[in-house]
Amino acid sequence: MTISTASHEIALNAIADSINVGGAAYEIWAQRFSEACDGYFDSIDSGQRSAAVEIAKKLGYSDPSDDVEYDPNVCSRSGIDNAYCHCGYHE
Ligand SMILES: [Zn+2]
Repeated sequence: MTISTASHEIALNAIADSINVGGAAYEIWAQRFSEACDGYFDSIDSGQRSAAVEIAKKLGYSDPSDDVEYDPNVCSRSGIDNAYCHCGYHE
């Protein structure tokens, strides 16, 4: 059975809507959403996965493979060195 891209969009939107972290930061929500997405991707046909990942990314999913250049000393929000970043998360 072929699942259409629209079906993934509906399913992923439902996952996004189902995650309620109250007043927690967006990053917490995004992390929970990304974990839920990973479970969803595992449940679908591997040939469908990249299309589903692209949809999920638009909703806030962060692909673990995008983090290969992750540097803990550089702000993930601004890309600026933590020592110089003014986003307010380095207090
Ligand atoms: Zn920052």
